[in-house]
Amino acid sequence: MIFDILTIFPGIFESPLRESILGKACQRGLLTVRVHNIRDYALDKHQMTDDRPFGGGEGMVMKPEPIVAALEDVKPLGPDAHVVLLSPQGRSFSQEMARRFRAMERLVLVCGRYEGVDQRVAEHFVDEEVSIGDFILTGGELAALVIVDAVARLLPGVLGNEASPEAESFAEPLLEYPQYTRPREFRGHAVPEVLLSGDHERIRRWRRMQALARTRDRRPDLFQRLELSAEDRRLLDEYDRERP
Ligand code: SAM
Repeated sequence: MIFDILTIFPGIFESPLRESILGKACQRGLLTVRVHNIRDYALDKHQMTDDRPFGGGEGMVMKPEPIVAALEDVKPLGPDAHVVLLSPQGRSFSQEMARRFRAMERLVLVCGRYEGVDQRVAEHFVDEEVSIGDFILTGGELAALVIVDAVARLLPGVLGNEASPEAESFAEPLLEYPQYTRPREFRGHAVPEVLLSGDHERIRRWRRMQALARTRDRRPDLFQRLELSAEDRRLLDEYDRERP
């Protein structure tokens, strides 16, 4: 999969794309991330990429010409590309959206700065606007990295363990069960006995019960989208009986 990122701060991407799982995946050619400097497409000699807002008001707005020139240069490089503008006003990014993006061969991510990007870019030159949450960042670069990270780890071979992405939180609208590792006891707090029992069926049932109860208690919005089986209902009753 190829990601093209359009930004005026290409340096932000250097270390996240060099380290750890993303770094290895890039080295192994499982994904390619190309970072393009929008400033290189500015028309004037000062390489201006922003200007004052029409109608007055605070701050600066990113000009449409350099962004669209960059898009027109980058888009033909390879197979059809899906163009995403990072914006707090976009649709909320989610695991479901990560899975949708994973199916694409190319994703172009356009990072805004300042007060945002001229509205004509959003309306006529991108396929969709995506937000990573209800808060305002200083720019779209960290949001683009969130998307690259979440999508890349779904690509075959990136995690090295094909099964793990599907077992995690949000594979269905369910949070993951709690995880423990050695030591068995830490500062007086023991690992739940069932996890040391070696009884795989008991462990499976305990993990399912914990995942269901966590989702119900922490994320009622997800819980209401879950289709509970008869076993799920029994496990939740058991959980509530044990913790009145
Ligand atoms: N004035 C804009 C508004 O109120 O909607 C906010 C602009 S923000 C300071 C600058 C840039 O950061 C945006 O153009 C966008 O690319 C990025 N950004 C900020 N928050 C974001 C979020 N929650 N998700 C995705 N991108 C975001």
